[in-house]
Amino acid sequence: MNILLFIGPPGSGKGTQADLIHEELGIPHISTGDILREAVKAQTDLGKKARKYMQAGDLVPDDIMIGIIQDRILQPDCNDGYILDGFPRTTNQGKALEKMLKENQQEITRVFYIDVEDDILMKRILGRETCHKCGAVFNKYFNPPQKAGICDNCQSELVTRSDDNEQSVRNRLKKYKENTYPLFKHFKEKELLVNIDGSQPIKEIKTRILSFLER
Ligand code: AMP
Repeated sequence: MNILLFIGPPGSGKGTQADLIHEELGIPHISTGDILREAVKAQTDLGKKARKYMQAGDLVPDDIMIGIIQDRILQPDCNDGYILDGFPRTTNQGKALEKMLKENQQEITRVFYIDVEDDILMKRILGRETCHKCGAVFNKYFNPPQKAGICDNCQSELVTRSDDNEQSVRNRLKKYKENTYPLFKHFKEKELLVNIDGSQPIKEIKTRILSFLER
């Protein structure tokens, strides 16, 4: 059973890798960012609470995030393991997760820390464009669509995430350094941490991650 954590700054590609590993191992990919974005879109109570934090690039409060994960990992599809993408992001979230797992006699298998330099992250995030219909992702700087603003696959319009603006991104990177760095020390001491160079090609990163997993 694999319980895998993907941690890294915004734009590090942790979501892309979590998705590839999900396809490879067949265990759910749980992205707290995606859960929150869906809630905002559906205008649920959670979405209404989370929206202002996300828009500003701030972290959503720990109690809300811990509650979301608590419910999600108890779903039957998580019985054989799962991938957490973007959680934990603070020491409190990390401690809460470890407590939940201990109660179920489970343990974290590995923590993949995907790191990329700030200037590359800025371009990755500010250039990011997603097809609103098929979900294909492009980048204005690194992987532009053939026709600006139009999806190569289905010719639909490409959109930018509303928190992918310069001010929010700078704040997200700042919050990441303040809140998430202390977690690394903790997981390193527990010998769970694997450092991954997120500037390498996507396929190579995936191969490296898989080499650390039991299958
Ligand atoms: P992401 O898609 O992982 O970059 O997350 C987008 C936004 O959702 C973040 O900038 C936060 O506002 C919020 N968020 C996602 N995961 C968490 C978390 N574990 N703790 C607090 N806020 C989160």
